[in-house]
Amino acid sequence: MDILHCDLDAFFASVEQRDHPELRGKPVIVGAPPNSRGVVSTCSYEARAFGVRSAMPSSQAYRLCPQAVFLPVDMKRYREASNQVFAILAEYTPVIEALSIDEAFLDLSGSHGIFGSSMEIGTQIRRRVKTELGLNISVGIGANKFLAKLATNLCKPDGIMEFTEDMVKNLLPTLTVDHLWGIGTVSTRRLNRSGIYTIQDLLEAPRQLLETLLGSSTDFCLDLARGIDYRPVTPYEEVKSIGNEITFPEDINEKQVIEQVLLELAEKVAHRLRMAQRKCQTITIKMRTPDFQTFSRSITSPTAVDDQRTLFDTAWMLYQQSGLEGKPLRLIGLTASRFQDREYEQPSLFEEFSKDKGIDSLIDGLNQKYAPGAVKRAVLMHSPGHFREGRN
Ligand SMILES: [Mg+2]
Repeated sequence: MDILHCDLDAFFASVEQRDHPELRGKPVIVGAPPNSRGVVSTCSYEARAFGVRSAMPSSQAYRLCPQAVFLPVDMKRYREASNQVFAILAEYTPVIEALSIDEAFLDLSGSHGIFGSSMEIGTQIRRRVKTELGLNISVGIGANKFLAKLATNLCKPDGIMEFTEDMVKNLLPTLTVDHLWGIGTVSTRRLNRSGIYTIQDLLEAPRQLLETLLGSSTDFCLDLARGIDYRPVTPYEEVKSIGNEITFPEDINEKQVIEQVLLELAEKVAHRLRMAQRKCQTITIKMRTPDFQTFSRSITSPTAVDDQRTLFDTAWMLYQQSGLEGKPLRLIGLTASRFQDREYEQPSLFEEFSKDKGIDSLIDGLNQKYAPGAVKRAVLMHSPGHFREGRN
């Protein structure tokens, strides 16, 4: 029983209730305001009692629970609390896989000698998160990731559970199919329509039927149904930048072609940013000349963006001001870095300036609006290296 899964209870709402004692015991909804088209991000258990759920439209949440306190998402504070929780987790093992800001797997196979059994470690973690950070964290323990997470889901909120061998044999088959990893509402409905409600039903169903219902996930689901899950706990390395670049088959100096290429790169990078739920403050272009010198130009803004238009406009300005405009290039790249979480919704400053004003007036404007020196121009950079299409 080496795998531990932890999940903070109603995390955003709990941080708010911890920091604002007058909110304790009350329904708290963190997310978009009720008169907007946005959704609930997290709600306290007091709000859940009224049927409010995450991802529900805030207007619907308001109809269910008009007395709830609605609060905007304060990602900076939640990130800080999350970092403190992960610092505690990291004391018990280096093998930690973050699933989200408030959820992680720990592989404790190397930790028992020092810290004791998984149950002892889980109990300690829960006590420390409670006393040191004032938050509730639920813990599930199992022989693998699936069983550990299942245990957490069964013991939430504020619980700890070990999914034993005996439970794999006697409890798991009795659970409904939506307890299986990856079986959401659509698959559940599809399975139910074929008379498959419990995990036992799934194990007894003809394989051919399962394949029509589950496709390529059939074997994975059957493994899970038997309590088997081979996926290792994979420590997650934080992505620091997202970039794409193109090496041209022939050197290019036509501005129209460069413009087209930057448009395509901006589209790819913007898409990847949105997929990663990130917005960037720094935009960098990289240019390599036929003599293999590499130059980069970048700009950092206090506001964060993730849209193709802004990425392109900024990249295009950087190119026009690079001193390499119209010169032959063998490679061009576009990279986004200095990420903020997407929940920071601020107006885009990049967009307040038209591209013909040039990069200097953009920097000036940003510095005027914020502190002097808040926005800097990156220095020229030379680097040797290998050249091909790529991404980071
Ligand atoms: Mg949670």
